[in-house]
Amino acid sequence: MHAPTAYQYTKPVATSLDAPLALRDSFGRVARDLRMSLTDRCNLRCTYCMPAEGLEWLPGEDILSDSEVKRLIDIGVGLLGIREIRFTGGEPLLRQSLAELLAHAHALRTDEDKPPRLSLTTNALGLDKKAGALVEAGLERVNISLDSLDPQTYARISGRDRLGDVLRGIDAAIAAGLHPIKVNAVAMRGVNEQGLCDLLRFCLNKGLQLRIIEHMPLGPQHTWSRAQILSAEDVLHILGTEFELNKVVNEDDPHAPARIWIIREGANNQAGTVGIIASVSKPFCANCDRTRITADGQMRSCLFARVESDLRGPLRAGASDQEIAEIWAGGMAAKKAGHGIDDPGFVQPTRFMSEIGG
Ligand code: SAM
Ligand code: SF4
Repeated sequence: MHAPTAYQYTKPVATSLDAPLALRDSFGRVARDLRMSLTDRCNLRCTYCMPAEGLEWLPGEDILSDSEVKRLIDIGVGLLGIREIRFTGGEPLLRQSLAELLAHAHALRTDEDKPPRLSLTTNALGLDKKAGALVEAGLERVNISLDSLDPQTYARISGRDRLGDVLRGIDAAIAAGLHPIKVNAVAMRGVNEQGLCDLLRFCLNKGLQLRIIEHMPLGPQHTWSRAQILSAEDVLHILGTEFELNKVVNEDDPHAPARIWIIREGANNQAGTVGIIASVSKPFCANCDRTRITADGQMRSCLFARVESDLRGPLRAGASDQEIAEIWAGGMAAKKAGHGIDDPGFVQPTRFMSEIGG
């Protein structure tokens, strides 16, 4: 265990945050959506997220304990206006106490006097055994990562031959009543582009909402190149070969990262929607309402942030809730306008996506 070090609190320089305290940045954005990473560990090795080998896990004592996670959630919801919490990782199902953490969050009340909306981003390995208990604990919605329905392509991307587990997890999520169930697929040229129409058809058949995401530079350096990226435009073109794509339904929703298209498949006359997330080619940073905490208690204002605000140190050194809230708010106040992938001087974050929390 950590020996608590004496904690010297210095009140951050006064900002417009001082009254009332909120996660407001200098561009007027207010963060209400907390991405809480519960572990950096994972049972897959997706090429776009982490290296196949050689990545050391964070030491156990660096990871926030259950009571530390609960306290940060309490501060976020109680003092900083958080209304939605998404548990992520690494693989959040690997955290044994996930149901307990969900139940704790579910018992809180937001500034709108209701429980925070609780969701999970998961690779679904083992979800078949846990979905019911997680729903009982307060989980409402789930995003399941699935890039291909072809077992070989799935194994090539994820590094493991586990497609069957994912499909069982999806069926369990449906049976447990989770809604909506979104399927996240990272689009990669020459890897899974041929299977995107099949994936969409599968999702339509099962009542799942497919979200196709542009590949972002958050994994091992050699796995991403701007020239190779399969853009939202390219994805629309591919889907357009087998589906009729109609108008976008959520053009007016400023916080939605995905543009949702109404689609119809000629042959089966099957209708539904598909979301396309153009995180690289058309970033939605101007409307971002997210704040992130890594499994080791570092607050990040952006996936691509180069600086983190340490919440764990003050937490372990006896800082008050108000002091921690001010450090968190101060870090968010400094949030940059955008992720800067297009800037000539763009530098990828030093941590991989699995260590940040997607
Ligand atoms: N292990 C869980 C999972 O895979 O759903 C949660 C963590 S994972 C980091 C969260 C999401 O980030 C996944 O949907 C994954 O596909 C996405 N992701 C990871 N690396 C990415 C990248 N370089 N570009 C775009 N999305 C990425
Ligand atoms: Fe693990 Fe999720 Fe990263 Fe894949 S995307 S390696 S499942 S954390």
